[in-house]
Amino acid sequence: MEELRGQLVAWRRHLHMNPEVGFEEHATAAYIEAQLRRMPGLSVSRPTATSVLAVLKGGLPGRTVLLRADIDALPIHEENTFEFASQTPGVMHACGHDGHTAILLGVAQLLSGDAGRVPGEIRMIFQHAEEIGPGGAEELVMQTPLMDGVDVVTGLHLNSQLPAGVVAVKPGAFMAAPDMLELTIRGKGGHGAHPEETVDPIAVGAQVVTNLQHVVSRMVAAQDALVVSVTKFTSGTTHNVIPDTAELMGTVRTFDPALRERAPQLIERVVRGICDAHGATYDLRYEFGYRPLINTDWVAAQLKDIALDVVGADRFRDAKPTMGGEDFSAYLEKAPGAYFNVGSGSDEADSRWPHHHPRFTIDETSLETGVHMLRAAALRLARPE
Ligand SMILES: [Zn+2]
Ligand SMILES: [Zn+2]
Repeated sequence: MEELRGQLVAWRRHLHMNPEVGFEEHATAAYIEAQLRRMPGLSVSRPTATSVLAVLKGGLPGRTVLLRADIDALPIHEENTFEFASQTPGVMHACGHDGHTAILLGVAQLLSGDAGRVPGEIRMIFQHAEEIGPGGAEELVMQTPLMDGVDVVTGLHLNSQLPAGVVAVKPGAFMAAPDMLELTIRGKGGHGAHPEETVDPIAVGAQVVTNLQHVVSRMVAAQDALVVSVTKFTSGTTHNVIPDTAELMGTVRTFDPALRERAPQLIERVVRGICDAHGATYDLRYEFGYRPLINTDWVAAQLKDIALDVVGADRFRDAKPTMGGEDFSAYLEKAPGAYFNVGSGSDEADSRWPHHHPRFTIDETSLETGVHMLRAAALRLARPE
């Protein structure tokens, strides 16, 4: 175990130093492939240019289980100063995918050394491009035979907001659908001193921003989770010119598929009404992102049992749903499964920074917790019914 611990840290630090963003993970995939090829009994392949698949056929009868780790980094400039900080300016593993990759390599190593006693078939997918739509999972699911014959799927995300070593699982709705909107408001520019001769797209846009919150608070029931955030609002050039247009972007988060379908109509009704009232026109583009991540109840229940065995009741938490999105949901369209969290936050490791923050890092003791959980999950879920 001491040896595994050192190996996990070495893998994670190498990946952390050499981050690559989605669809560009060429060196990352080559590194992962090289590690896997050292492990006996695995059949290793590249389903897409930057993803890696390792398949282990167990010596005992059983089911086919897919384990997933995402491998991509983010376009963020790292502010950590430890010796294994990113060597690539402007790119950083700020979500913990370096840890996910190390954990799945650790699981592959343990299973490969014990293949005779493994039931069924364990497929381990090192997935590219989780952070960038349309996402690597969708590509693997739709364009490769990865999911053919898979009985159940699982995977984990490290979570800096949970204490290191804690495992959190939840049945049902776990992560939201992250949909996107882009709005151009077209007014009529002119002199800042004579707004009566213009249609001011900034004033109209400001009304839109505030009134979109009425979609959340007045048009949708409080128990139906919905977030609408306008995250970009750009317009204008200087102090005495009213511009022609304003550009807005935002994100819309839901769990419920019916509400997800209805949200764009509610949003457009507000945009249309306000633009009409003020004599502006608009162009609204709405894009559906990843599906909501809904855990299969029986798989979540098994993961909870496993967690109680592996980390004990003290370190188990019933997870809360989060409005974050995850393309793990694509696998759940094809097979039952569940996604879970492993805590990676601690004061000792200064690893309580939020995900996607330039100071993000993990408490590396969480890597072992991840390996033990994921390995136990693979063995349990692959057992014949
Ligand atoms: Zn992320
Ligand atoms: Zn992530």
